[in-house]
Amino acid sequence: MTFTPGITSAAERGLIFAIAGQNLYVVREPRIAIPEGPATPLYLGALDGVACFAQLVEDDTAPAGEPVALRQLFGALTDEEFAVAGRALGLTTWDRDHRYCGRCGGPTEPSPTERARTCARCSFATYPRLSPAVIMLVERDGKCLLARNARTKMPFYSTLAGFVEVGETLEEAVAREVHEEAGVVVSDIRYFGSQPWPFTSSLMIGFTAQWASGEIHADPTEIMDAGWFARDAIPVVPPKLSIARELIDAFVIGV
Ligand SMILES: [Zn+2]
Repeated sequence: MTFTPGITSAAERGLIFAIAGQNLYVVREPRIAIPEGPATPLYLGALDGVACFAQLVEDDTAPAGEPVALRQLFGALTDEEFAVAGRALGLTTWDRDHRYCGRCGGPTEPSPTERARTCARCSFATYPRLSPAVIMLVERDGKCLLARNARTKMPFYSTLAGFVEVGETLEEAVAREVHEEAGVVVSDIRYFGSQPWPFTSSLMIGFTAQWASGEIHADPTEIMDAGWFARDAIPVVPPKLSIARELIDAFVIGV
């Protein structure tokens, strides 16, 4: 399947990705009439030629059926559909949160030519914003550093991660996060891959790194428990949805 992003479409029918919170109404009927007026959905692009729209669901506009948490749809939708659903989540949230200008407070309108909302009063344009976050697997003598996050109830160990701060490089962010969260100094920081993470409007940028010095001294506000795990002793880890799991799987098979 091929997705071609776009800003506007004359299509009167298409696929609607209806978003409620972080849930998605799976609209399996691919040819739904697009409503007009203030509730007009955001055009996302075309998936194999089928127009795809995103719509934020308020209580009175909920389609029939039960919403499903987007995270649970990984594997149930095709990878391409899941990626479009992620765009739908990110863009409907951005669209809702930028109805008014951050500079002068005037009302904004969607631009007809680019993915932006423009202030009707001062012309200031607001674009969808991503928060870059680094996520990294640190290796030491054939073991990898995994930790249980103190702020989630998820019963698994994962790689460390954190948002990039203004003014730092990605590599500096990796080194800082590992040191802040686990008290360890790393070297040989190498790019691994990236993944859009629409749940927090993030782009996750994955790295591998080598332990250089220091023993684990976890920050208790961030980390419940952390340790070095051998390939044959990996604890419960995140599902395949995440780049964290890709990093761990790559470590386990030794690539
Ligand atoms: Zn303005």
